[in-house]
Amino acid sequence: MINMKFISRFLLFAVLAITFLACGNSESSLTETGVSFELAKYRAASIQNLRYDLHIIIPEDQNDAIYGEEIIRAEINDLSKPLILDFKVENDFLTKVVANGEEVSYVFEDEHIIIGKSSLLEGENTIELSFRLGETSLNRNPEFLYTLFVPDRARTAFPCFDQPNLKGKYALELTIPETWQALANGAKIEETVDGGKKILKFAETKPLSTYLFDFVAGDFEVVEREVGGRMMTMLHRESDSVKVARNLDEIFNLHLTALDWLEDYTGIEYPFQKFGFAIIPSFQYGGMEHPGAITYKASSLFLDESATQNKLMGRASLIAHETAHMWFGDLVTMNWFDDVWMKEVFANFMAAKIVNPSFPDINHDLRFLLAHYPGAYAVDRSKGMHPIQQPLDNLKDAGTLYGSIIYQKAPIVMRKLERRIGKEVMQKGLQDYLSEFAYENATWDDLISILDSVSEEKVTKWSNQWVKTAGMPDLFPFIRTDDDDSTITQFSLYQRNFNDGEKVWSQKLTVGIEAQDTMYHFDVDMTGNGVRIDEAEGLIDATFVVCNEEGYGYGYFRMGPLTEKRWLERMQEFENPVLRGVGWLNLWESFLHQRLSTDDLLTAILNNLPAEPDPLIQQYLLGRLSTVYWKFLPSDVRLDSATSIEAVLWNRIAELEDNKLKSAYLSTYRSIVLTDEGVENLYKLWNKELSIEGITLSESDYTQLAYQLALRGHKDSEQILNEQIERIDNPDRKARLEFIRPSLSTDQSTRDAFFESLKDEANREHESWVQQAIGFLHHPLRAAQSEKYITPTLEILEEIQQTGDIFFPKRVLDNTFSGHQSKDAVDAVRQFLFRNNHYPTNLKNKILQSSDLTFRAAEILNPKEEPEDAQ
Ligand SMILES: [Zn+2]
Repeated sequence: MINMKFISRFLLFAVLAITFLACGNSESSLTETGVSFELAKYRAASIQNLRYDLHIIIPEDQNDAIYGEEIIRAEINDLSKPLILDFKVENDFLTKVVANGEEVSYVFEDEHIIIGKSSLLEGENTIELSFRLGETSLNRNPEFLYTLFVPDRARTAFPCFDQPNLKGKYALELTIPETWQALANGAKIEETVDGGKKILKFAETKPLSTYLFDFVAGDFEVVEREVGGRMMTMLHRESDSVKVARNLDEIFNLHLTALDWLEDYTGIEYPFQKFGFAIIPSFQYGGMEHPGAITYKASSLFLDESATQNKLMGRASLIAHETAHMWFGDLVTMNWFDDVWMKEVFANFMAAKIVNPSFPDINHDLRFLLAHYPGAYAVDRSKGMHPIQQPLDNLKDAGTLYGSIIYQKAPIVMRKLERRIGKEVMQKGLQDYLSEFAYENATWDDLISILDSVSEEKVTKWSNQWVKTAGMPDLFPFIRTDDDDSTITQFSLYQRNFNDGEKVWSQKLTVGIEAQDTMYHFDVDMTGNGVRIDEAEGLIDATFVVCNEEGYGYGYFRMGPLTEKRWLERMQEFENPVLRGVGWLNLWESFLHQRLSTDDLLTAILNNLPAEPDPLIQQYLLGRLSTVYWKFLPSDVRLDSATSIEAVLWNRIAELEDNKLKSAYLSTYRSIVLTDEGVENLYKLWNKELSIEGITLSESDYTQLAYQLALRGHKDSEQILNEQIERIDNPDRKARLEFIRPSLSTDQSTRDAFFESLKDEANREHESWVQQAIGFLHHPLRAAQSEKYITPTLEILEEIQQTGDIFFPKRVLDNTFSGHQSKDAVDAVRQFLFRNNHYPTNLKNKILQSSDLTFRAAEILNPKEEPEDAQ
């Protein structure tokens, strides 16, 4: 074999480039930065039996480099092209490449290591690499680190084939400081200590996609437990031992419940060799489904004593969600990230089924309604709407696919699917799907064709409407009555689309009509533009119509004035809480479409808060109250209303017996307070002069109080923040407050400097801190001074997307627009989009989604002048 070491990189690249061109011009996309769909397709077809041996040496000092050695074994069946590995790091990080025992020359450009065909063999190949690890996704902290490689970040740490459909088996060896602990996908099989270092070997894993490979190492507490015959390992860093003790049993038991349930439902035993999880402070998401080594955000699992019912349920759902991924996503994985929604929807769908029986007192249909519809509508009513399944040309843009359509709308659609084909058929279809594609990959269309084969109802067309079409239907009843306006002679329900009248969505609905004090129910299968309900004809004196009575319907359901009045004035007469939930959702949509006034809505919310018996609806109303208050009231009106709104909330806090609901009210009160008396209450609560019966304020409550006092420019803000920092023992939480602090400053130049600092990627490392700080910069009380940050934020959004984690761009946008309601804020967005005509669609959509309420608020607050009536 010729040693090509002496050929310059440039020459070799030229040779490779010519080889590529000779094979056709589509191949330039093979080596473009990121991982193009073309590259992934070619590699998936030509590479098999992939195995990674990785040895990673982690030093104690966060600032010292991390080095790695790697052996990649793969069968290559097509030698027409060079081998292209992904590695997105500085060029000098790669120090050695040996292919099949020979040191070879290679090209390392545009995030790829390209090894010439002459160094490769047909069949089994062994590639050995030495390198320094890139640190973008290692999340290094002073005492610990953890990897987070979803969706395409494995390539930022080590050389690999970074695509979901090239699964590999990983044998990992970690060298870490002697006092550290570690968790990885494989079971720990060997531990040796030598000269202050600990060497851990982990068993080779089952086949995993790169985005699921992970390890966590650092100064962690390890808790090993056998629960229900299963061994589980947990790592955490929580220093508050009371908090740990309070939560520990529940955390293990929730995992056990989820595992047992999933084995039963899928008919497949837990598919990986061991089960463990690490609880990380300030983890970017609620959790991430790394097989055998799930990672969670500490605050999602370690709950405060005063945790609301929503929080408890949220935790159970999160644990069930990540555990469900072990089958849905980890065992069978999407072929490409355009189907990423699939694993999320299944995890959510299963989580709902798993968690519900543990909360028998909760109305789960209502919870589903309130947990999914508002988020899904928020996108589908905006100009940034998009279908559930979105195209993706390059994996580097995969992060932009995530959002409410995946997390909130897709579960709604999945529930509709199950309702259409039946629970048993659904389960059977999913079992077939999991066993047919175990340890491999599959597309949504693969599942749909399995369902088509097991179900009487054909679902391909349905799937095209709900999964591949953007937006939601606009539904409206058409009622014709006889001459004296009392008897219904025709009742029809129509649908149309805001932008494209041709689009229709098939859905089964229950239409409720109240006539002469009796509710009549009609099941309707909406398959075309309109459907006539003959059975409704002859009803007399109908005063109320609801077209999504059972809460399964999806769309903007228009109401007539009588129906609207009925919801607004006599909501509590409906005994079924799901129906009241539907009512509030319909009123909210009506409000945002400017068919209902701010005043009417606000009055209805305030009147119903004390009367509403269901805690979930109360919490929903508290959220809406905050939004209307900050977003849709002009600042002078807001100030005028503050006294009465604060009073409603404060009285409720005093009179409520449910302590969890009490804390929900308190947190709303804390966030809306504007009067001197209210601010004084916050101060006394923070200062511990005042306490509320039944509520034990936690450290995070006190921190929140300190934030709110600072935002209101309390005269002792600086002192309050100083003391709050003193009160916190945990170093991670202390650092968080110190980081956030300048965003709260009353001094504009301090806030300006802080905003400037966020332009540097290095200062955005702790994303959850940054998000919160941006929210404070743009707090409604400071909106006028922070408008000027909108344009520069949009200008760095692409960079934020390229350097940050998947949810980060949207969260930055949400927090940026959180406090704005002015025309100027809207103009800043319009002008930016006008100037950047060819902005990437997914990011543009996110801007339009996040700014949607700001646009609507600006319109509602600045109504177009009506032409004067002609005399
Ligand atoms: Zn998930």
